[in-house]
Amino acid sequence: MSAKLPATRKNNWVNIVFFAVTTLVGLIGTPLYIYKYGISSSEIALFVFFVIITPMSITTGYHRQFAHRTFKTNAVIRFLLLFFGAASFEQSALEWSSQHRDHHRYVDTDLDPYSIKKGFFYAHIGWLLFWQHHTNYDNARDLVTDPLIRHQHRYYLLWAIGAGMVMPLAIGAATGHLLGAFILSICLRLTVVYHLTFFINSICHIFGRSTYDIYATAKDNWFIAYLTFGEGYHNFHHRFSGDYRNGVRWYQWDPSKWLIWMLGKTGLARDLRRISDFRILSAQLAGENRRVSDWLTRSGTNTELLKIGEAVQSQYDKLKGNLAKWEEAAREYKRILQRQVADYSKEVRESARWNLGEARQKFHHTHHDWKALLRHYPATA
Ligand SMILES: [Zn+2]
Ligand SMILES: [Zn+2]
Repeated sequence: MSAKLPATRKNNWVNIVFFAVTTLVGLIGTPLYIYKYGISSSEIALFVFFVIITPMSITTGYHRQFAHRTFKTNAVIRFLLLFFGAASFEQSALEWSSQHRDHHRYVDTDLDPYSIKKGFFYAHIGWLLFWQHHTNYDNARDLVTDPLIRHQHRYYLLWAIGAGMVMPLAIGAATGHLLGAFILSICLRLTVVYHLTFFINSICHIFGRSTYDIYATAKDNWFIAYLTFGEGYHNFHHRFSGDYRNGVRWYQWDPSKWLIWMLGKTGLARDLRRISDFRILSAQLAGENRRVSDWLTRSGTNTELLKIGEAVQSQYDKLKGNLAKWEEAAREYKRILQRQVADYSKEVRESARWNLGEARQKFHHTHHDWKALLRHYPATA
């Protein structure tokens, strides 16, 4: 494996010109066009279609399917994800995924292609316009061997222009709105989708909550999640990048997760990878505990603080113990249900179910006390 090289400063004129033209035409051309010609429902429909399907193909396809392999799917779905992913003009899936894997592996260091440590502008867009990256695909061997991904990479411009320009222009021409399609469904759409994608690397590495890894620059930002089809839950994602969900709670806005789930339910996707609820809860509790101990360390040492520290630690140990017991009881119950044990009679099953209920309740009691204890300290406010 050849050594990784940090990015070097070099203007990327193709990207600069492309970005400047689409932004200017999109932002200035749209109001002028609407002022002069008005806007038809077919133009709105075409814009909405592209402004949803192209970023969804990045989040579901480039990100969760190709970069992280969080689910398996068939060739048709993979083709569609590559097709509309290319229409986003965010490089080939191979390039994107390889750089994204580097982002996870080397996050916040010089080898992170969009490190937030180099500033908001760099992480947002500067890295694409003014820096050259030395991607060698060593970290994407699994993708290089896929003929469809290889084809999209080799003929990337054909894919991107075909899907992202020729198609909207053809639909625009067919409906009598060629210029409108160019301004709205290409230039304005690209501008909007670019910045929404870039928010993950900039805003979501600064603003939000750090529930699962309190030291990570990656944050859970529910507001950005609304704009990015669920990708705003970036603290969770950096901690558990192998999970197909980014918004892990059922109520968290994550259409990419819902799409993958629906593909799974209709047999179009399989092996959806999920981190166990116990591991997720354990990470969350460890974060809460770390926050209090850091606060105590910062607050100095006196007898009262030492006492608080001991109480918190002892409650946390109890909590961890009860979580482990609950997990074990759940595992045992599952083994019995799946008949992986010698005796899976009704009595054994009932007793395991009772044990599970008991263990769950015990954990919830301890958790309740833990929450009550934490409420006393500003560190967790
Ligand atoms: Zn990140
Ligand atoms: Zn990721």
